[in-house]
Amino acid sequence: MAKKRASSSKGSETIRSCANIRSKKHPDVRCTYPAAHGEFCARHHKNPTRFQEKSSLEHVKSQTQILAIQAIQRWWRLYVGFLRFSKQGPATNTPTVSENQTDIYTLESIHAIPLIYRWSYPDSKRHIWLFDVRSLSMTRAQDSRELLLNPYTREPILEKHESHFQHRCTWLRARKYCIVHSQDVELSTEQLWHQQILDVTMKYDMLGYHTCIHWFEELNTRQLMAFYIELWELWFYRLHLNSEIKHQVIPNWNSRTTPLFKWSPGELLYRVERRWWQKVLLDILDRFVSSAVLKEHRVLGALYGMTGFAVVSQTVREQYHWLVEIQETM
Ligand SMILES: [Zn+2]
Repeated sequence: MAKKRASSSKGSETIRSCANIRSKKHPDVRCTYPAAHGEFCARHHKNPTRFQEKSSLEHVKSQTQILAIQAIQRWWRLYVGFLRFSKQGPATNTPTVSENQTDIYTLESIHAIPLIYRWSYPDSKRHIWLFDVRSLSMTRAQDSRELLLNPYTREPILEKHESHFQHRCTWLRARKYCIVHSQDVELSTEQLWHQQILDVTMKYDMLGYHTCIHWFEELNTRQLMAFYIELWELWFYRLHLNSEIKHQVIPNWNSRTTPLFKWSPGELLYRVERRWWQKVLLDILDRFVSSAVLKEHRVLGALYGMTGFAVVSQTVREQYHWLVEIQETM
């Protein structure tokens, strides 16, 4: 029980809370489960009753004011429809125009995809496709190819559409929408962990380094240790980075409270839990690509992360052989 509470409090940091009322009996309290299905939890997403804070609008009484509010609401509905079209693509409001009528991952009708998760694009033949962002991002993170392919036609998705899709993912994650599929009310520790890895791989994707979730997950403890040591050596010695560039890539890298490397390699030889190592490394890899103010410095951070990754992972070396060629000349 204590363990369960711990995992749900961890969840609240990375996933938003359900927007529903707790129950018909308790309409004045908000549901506390994580919103694993967009705005709502698994219990409430099929038949939601949105929780509303008591607002000042309730005091508005006059007929003119009510009519004005209704006009504004009508305008908003139109405007939101237009916004969805431009941010989520042509079939978002009208799924019937899509070539595919079921989702690639859940195999359910695309009409069942929550609005917030819909993303669609036209291919080279002007056929329109509609996806659940969660399905496409999961398939993407499991695919080692550099190009994003349409899963139905195997045709590469143009870069402008891919970056449109990545922006949608980033937009959703910035608002703590969960982008892994979940059937349960509580997200399991494993699902939350997947969400965390996905968050980091998406950042590398945005900077031009596609990584596959398995590449990281398949590293054993020994490789993870070597990865840490490699990054530590690259950062301190091998790349001959001056302090100016270090601060541009990770401004607070040597802060007293949250240093980039909390331990020197010698202090870590006795840590043997794989998950502990994975968390330490995921945190470092994340800081490489999310600390800098300028994109060019985040791109450099991604290059450092990938360089260390290539040293310990055969799969990464095969995908990014030019990284190894740089290494050999250092
Ligand atoms: Zn709920």
